[in-house]
Amino acid sequence: MKRTHYSREITPEMNGQPVIVSGWVHEIRDFGGLSFLILRDREGLVQITMPKKKVSKEIVETARGLSRESVISVGGAVKAEAKAPHGYELIPTEIEVLSLAEAPLPLDPTGKVPAELDTRLDARFMDIRSPEVTAVFSIRAHMIKAMREFLTAHGCLEIATPKIVATATEGGTALFPISYFDREAFLNQSPQLYKQMMMAAGMDRVYEIGPIFRAEEHATRKHLNEATSIDVELSFVSMEDVMVLLENGIAYVYNYVKENCSRELGELGIDLQVPKTPFRRIPYAEAIAIARTHPECAGIEYGDDLDTTAEHAVGAEIGEHYFIMDWPTELRAFYTQAYDDHPELCKAFDLMHPRMELASGAQREHRYERLVANLEARDLNPDSFTFYLDAFRYGMPPHAGWGLGAERLVQTMLGLNNVREAVLFPRDRVRLTP
Ligand code: ATP
Ligand code: MN
Repeated sequence: MKRTHYSREITPEMNGQPVIVSGWVHEIRDFGGLSFLILRDREGLVQITMPKKKVSKEIVETARGLSRESVISVGGAVKAEAKAPHGYELIPTEIEVLSLAEAPLPLDPTGKVPAELDTRLDARFMDIRSPEVTAVFSIRAHMIKAMREFLTAHGCLEIATPKIVATATEGGTALFPISYFDREAFLNQSPQLYKQMMMAAGMDRVYEIGPIFRAEEHATRKHLNEATSIDVELSFVSMEDVMVLLENGIAYVYNYVKENCSRELGELGIDLQVPKTPFRRIPYAEAIAIARTHPECAGIEYGDDLDTTAEHAVGAEIGEHYFIMDWPTELRAFYTQAYDDHPELCKAFDLMHPRMELASGAQREHRYERLVANLEARDLNPDSFTFYLDAFRYGMPPHAGWGLGAERLVQTMLGLNNVREAVLFPRDRVRLTP
């Protein structure tokens, strides 16, 4: 038997038509003379109705013998039925058992028995079967597609840069070392240096959606050790230009999900509000001043990074997406361009959701001498960055860009409590399998 339709593609108007559906046994209900089998596929549920008088004994027996979550195909005729999912039921003429599920199940995918996140992640293949979790990953897929569409429409070329590298992007220590033949190498923490080199290469506008690796021993609800970054870099533009690109990109993705994922949003009970552009732009100094008015942030001072408490305090006051811009130069990475007339501040920004940081970006320092000076000012050795610095010596356009965390975008859009819910197989301090 070969599947002809997903559950959702069948309509009551197809009354009498033969179809074949395939999926998992969601539920079996037996009332003696009448039994129901609820089949679940990626797109929804199908009610298979078996009145004893109309369905062969053999089919009823097969259905009764099935364990929950077994995989089957069912052929039958569509019958309009207002009370059934999607407004129809199937009267089966054939059932093929493709794979019997063992019992007990590691998890209840109908969600009737709620499980802890750790239990869910341990049996992730089963967890994702539940319609709410399927909805999260369907929305994530649509979101990534929308972002590709948006960036492509703005002239950006998709690139792929190496994830195995020799030096730290930021000179930090948060790197995973790996053995690379007879040498030590690292998993890249960001495509930053490579996407900038593509500006020297004349690619003009690029983006990459790929993994970033951070060896930080976080135990928070917004950090992963392997995350997905949506990275963008544009030549011949200003910081403001890439901030506009970012806020419009966020609004585009929200609109796209609202228009194309109404079923998934319904499954999650979300009435998605598209953030209004332009987002507020708040200088770093003002963000600190706002935080300081909150008693829980009394200790924060000008020159400090915003910790989670401060992010929440400022976020609660703004209440929607906003930018924090014009950061103290010493708080940002060496490749950030400082203001020529007041070099203690730099042309950097963070895009904030009221709950957390979503993206960081900046105008980059494209002038070779200043870039080298920036490295030295941070006690980094320019010799380790020769491969990168060379790209600035033979014609480098001014450029700017940003990196946006895909999981945090999903997490904040869908109000997920933990960023781990936005990734199939999260990697954290303790979790390396599945
Ligand atoms: P944070 O201060 O919140 O730890 P960051 O400033 O170290 O983040 P960046 O280096 O600016 O992160 O990376 C750009 C974006 O990539 C972040 O704004 C975030 O959305 C995402 N990102 C970075 N690190 C992680 C991580 N460990 N887990 C999940 N997302 C991350
Ligand atoms: Mn950042």
